[in-house]
Amino acid sequence: MYGWNVEETIKKLLSEHAIKGFLDAEEGNALFRYAKQVSHLGPALEVGSYCGLSTIYLGNACQIHEQTLYAVDHHRGSEEHQPGELYHDVDLYDTNLKRMNTLPQLQKTVSIAEIENTVVPIVAPSALVQRNWGTPLSMVFIDGGHSEAMSMQDTVGWSEHVVAGGVLAIHDIFEHPEQGGQGPYLAMCAVLESGKFEHIEQVQSLAILRRV
Ligand code: MG
Repeated sequence: MYGWNVEETIKKLLSEHAIKGFLDAEEGNALFRYAKQVSHLGPALEVGSYCGLSTIYLGNACQIHEQTLYAVDHHRGSEEHQPGELYHDVDLYDTNLKRMNTLPQLQKTVSIAEIENTVVPIVAPSALVQRNWGTPLSMVFIDGGHSEAMSMQDTVGWSEHVVAGGVLAIHDIFEHPEQGGQGPYLAMCAVLESGKFEHIEQVQSLAILRRV
């Protein structure tokens, strides 16, 4: 796949397979573009892989540089995915386990996208993965729990591991409460206030920050 137009390959793949997720194609293309730009600097990591939609964009970009994408998710769904909540999907509810389980979907996505040589799924809460993490990262994409506490922990915690010149991408950024939850936005503001990052692009609800 390396020498071909990878963006076209992704587009074709997504037209043939309905991958569940909440990422717009324009946002996905931006993830691909930035990961392609910086992943020669080291591995990348995403929080909140869900069924692997963002994993396709980031994984394909990392594959170009023969780098690794760590795909972190507990695969139990976020608050809004639980039964009775707005974004619950009965197809993703495991009746044997009696809980959400998106891991089989991620495995399927990684397989059909042919990025198994690139993606390392990590099935655990983001905070647990952070606890002993020491590997510098070229790019981090945050799309996990959206509460203020979870957003802060993920965004501020993982931002520390981004190398100079690397990228921190945050999904579901809504500046005003009437547009959506404020957790990711407040977490982004905290990171910007540290002076270690600058906001370089906004693609719909996806914020792109670069480590200075
Ligand atoms: Mg999201």
